[in-house]
Amino acid sequence: MEYWHLKNKELFDLFKKKIDEEYPTLIVLVVDNLVNIKGTIRIKDDKKIILNSYSINIVVPHNFPHEIPKLYEVGGKIPLIPDRHFENDGSACLCLRDEVFLYWNEEKSTVIDFIKFFVEPFFHWQIEYEASGGQNKDNAHAHGLMGAINFYKNILGTDDVKVVYKFIEYLTKKKVKKHWPCFCGSGQQIRYCHFDLMKYYKQKIRSKDAKKTLDNFKRMIEIIRNNKEKKE
Ligand SMILES: [Zn+2]
Ligand SMILES: [Zn+2]
Repeated sequence: MEYWHLKNKELFDLFKKKIDEEYPTLIVLVVDNLVNIKGTIRIKDDKKIILNSYSINIVVPHNFPHEIPKLYEVGGKIPLIPDRHFENDGSACLCLRDEVFLYWNEEKSTVIDFIKFFVEPFFHWQIEYEASGGQNKDNAHAHGLMGAINFYKNILGTDDVKVVYKFIEYLTKKKVKKHWPCFCGSGQQIRYCHFDLMKYYKQKIRSKDAKKTLDNFKRMIEIIRNNKEKKE
């Protein structure tokens, strides 16, 4: 396995420098060949008043920046449950998988961007959650398969799950051919219909991420079908 911090010394030096400068309560260390960022993160409001602080561990994947890091809350301040946006492995569910690359640019994004756009908003939401007794649930990013379907409904401006399904299916393809029928069901070739929209999201959403969502979608359809058959 090639580790980014060994392969790209320059990037790693800049990474450490940036953390030192902007987050002096965090330290960078290498554990089992993976870069970790450990320490305390202070979450502030726009007047720089500290709202709360959390003990965290950020684990940077070996192929950073092609994958985003994982965030762990290690101070026991938040229950690590799906309702609070934690995955089964205890890491924070920072963003719907399909959506990551709308906010993360593999060439331009830095570790500071990761903390600013993923980590801090995550804790801001947690603070609001506690203050409001969970009233802000719907303000969180989409979550799980239903979240993914809602995300796609939003970007497509439709409630039609068949359109959503077709769109995700096209995202999983290596290339979308211009003469294919449009995912929207208009009957037109995609080049005369939603080509620009398709092209935009095809560049942003990785086919391997769309593939995982499509697999979950298929599984759900299968379950619904089996339940129907049982009833009949
Ligand atoms: Zn989530
Ligand atoms: Zn269309």
